[in-house]
Amino acid sequence: MSTLSDENKTNNYNSLRIDLHSHTTCSDGHLSPQELVSRAENYQIEQFAITDHDTVDAFSIAQQHIDEQNFKLRLISGIEISTMWENFEIHIVGLNIDTEHPALTTLIEQQQNAREQRAQLMAEKLTKAGFENCYEDAKLLAHQGTITRAHFARVLHNRGVVSTMQKAFDKYIGKGKRAYVKPQWCSIEQAILVIHQAGGKSVIAHPMKYDLSNKWLRRLIVDFSDAGGDAMEVASPQMNEQQRLFLRQLLVEYQLQGSVGSDFHFPSRWSDLGKNLTLPDDVDVVWQHWQ
Ligand code: AMP
Ligand code: MN
Ligand code: MN
Ligand code: MN
Repeated sequence: MSTLSDENKTNNYNSLRIDLHSHTTCSDGHLSPQELVSRAENYQIEQFAITDHDTVDAFSIAQQHIDEQNFKLRLISGIEISTMWENFEIHIVGLNIDTEHPALTTLIEQQQNAREQRAQLMAEKLTKAGFENCYEDAKLLAHQGTITRAHFARVLHNRGVVSTMQKAFDKYIGKGKRAYVKPQWCSIEQAILVIHQAGGKSVIAHPMKYDLSNKWLRRLIVDFSDAGGDAMEVASPQMNEQQRLFLRQLLVEYQLQGSVGSDFHFPSRWSDLGKNLTLPDDVDVVWQHWQ
């Protein structure tokens, strides 16, 4: 049989027990760093990375909880950096980074400023569309954490303006919609450089989520590789078998390492830690390359 049975997929994943992409309340996740690593420990995940949007604040909080509770899980430090490439917002994950490296701290500060500016401009556009005080409400939802469009989507959803968060993107804050503001993110090259300065590995996050044609996806990978990028996520929960095989082929072609991540934000029927993360045996995996 050339295709894996469901049972084998589960076994394949279970033998991995690795999830290198997730979010906490330090950005747009719904669980605190403590709650998230407790969940990962319960799921018997062995290597786990929190990759909040443009912040590393969760790392020390989560590590302290792991130490206090004597968890077995190994926490890998991480971040998900928003970048702008050819008018696309591409997310680059950094793994196994020195979270206190000055170059990283500086980049995080710039990204947070860009987020703040965009949030205010987005709120102005939403006001013009008839929805006032979205910035204030989004800030309340984000607490001290990174403000994201997911918070604005929750505000619109909570107010009953849209029936799902996705519809907030489709109607108002998604690319090209009436309250969309083009953000001032760093470049892919900058993100890779800073991740390397901080001693980490750079990873193209969820390559199937950008609505790129195969030709554009190849262009992205070529530019990423040319800039010294290390790896690409080849197992995300929503991907089908054909997409997995295509990405695997691209890894080989462009000599990139493979990574896996659920991009977990909150428990739901469709997403959970480590869910549906399968990986072909012969992939050069990113976690073999850290100490
Ligand atoms: P931001 O990084 O501020 O642009 O916020 C993007 C975040 O919003 C993503 O990381 C997702 O968690 C969430 N999101 C949900 N639906 C969408 C969508 N259709 N497009 C982009 N982001 C989405
Ligand atoms: Mn998010
Ligand atoms: Mn992302
Ligand atoms: Mn993510």
